[in-house]
Amino acid sequence: MSFEYLKKLPSPEEIRKQYPITKTLAEKKAKRDQEIRHIITGQSQKFLVIIGPCSADNEDAVCDYICRLARVQEKVKDKLLLIPRIYTNKPRTTGNGYKGIVHQPDPEKKPDLLQGLIAMRKMHIRAMDESGLTAADEMLYPDNWDYVADILSYVAIGARSVEDQQHRMTVSGFDLPSGMKNPTSGDLSVMLNSVAAAQQPHRFTHRMYEVQTQGNELAHTILRGAVDQHGTAIPNYHYEDLMRLLYMYSQRDLMYPAVIIDSNHSNSNKQYEEQPRIVKEVLHSRNPDLHKLVKGVMIESYIESGCQKVGEHIYGKSITDPCLGWEESEQLIYEIADF
Ligand code: PEP
Ligand code: MN
Repeated sequence: MSFEYLKKLPSPEEIRKQYPITKTLAEKKAKRDQEIRHIITGQSQKFLVIIGPCSADNEDAVCDYICRLARVQEKVKDKLLLIPRIYTNKPRTTGNGYKGIVHQPDPEKKPDLLQGLIAMRKMHIRAMDESGLTAADEMLYPDNWDYVADILSYVAIGARSVEDQQHRMTVSGFDLPSGMKNPTSGDLSVMLNSVAAAQQPHRFTHRMYEVQTQGNELAHTILRGAVDQHGTAIPNYHYEDLMRLLYMYSQRDLMYPAVIIDSNHSNSNKQYEEQPRIVKEVLHSRNPDLHKLVKGVMIESYIESGCQKVGEHIYGKSITDPCLGWEESEQLIYEIADF
């Protein structure tokens, strides 16, 4: 056995006690959670824009970016609800590369999981405190959920995790909107099976406990495009794709049918500058039925456009997937609001 047990990590209770959120922040979050919930259930007609860098690798740049978003949120508050992406753990296609701040608080240094858990929590709290916005993160590691359970307003299950039973059962215990992405193969039934599983109660093991969940009626879908057997990107944001999903939802008995369209990844084939066009096409595609189904979009955006290699040190530029720059992102948000 090659496991080397390096150190015992503090429990979520210990870390949460050390880095607590204030009562004011908890109240702000409860209010925002309610608003987001109402969008998914159809009680609110606002549109969700889940937007931010592919990975949140640098606390200062991420907080700067999110404070900019907060100023824009104020201007579009009647139409849109902006949820910043603070993605602290990154799945890697081949296992290589930067795995997120929870692994590497400093992307140029070796993994440090203790400092990583702390950095993840501190960054989320600082961003909330400075901007008043509560964030979305991907739940890549179900065991890490409890470290941020009191902070997040939206959780995504990535394309590489969506078929995994532990992820699905863990989501069934959240009372937060949780977006299940289509797998990289593009099979929409896998995504809908994942929603079905997450909406049901489950009994299972979680962090050395036997736990019981109630099911998460806010679990819904995210279309992120796919790749075929030759590695070619196959988008799934077009009218026909949305209608197909609408039909597939109609064949199942799921609560609150909803979809978020991710405009980057295999939908843009990582041509990040295509995102405004893709988002506008989605908005155009909405007939009355799709208006109900399409609850929002997900955009990869940061201060600088594109991406850089680790070690280049360009402030506010992605070190994972290429992102839309700030000016184009701000402009796009206003266009979405005016649509
Ligand atoms: C992401 O949102 O940055 C991401 C990794 O998405 P996906 O799981 O769709 O590849
Ligand atoms: Mn990404």
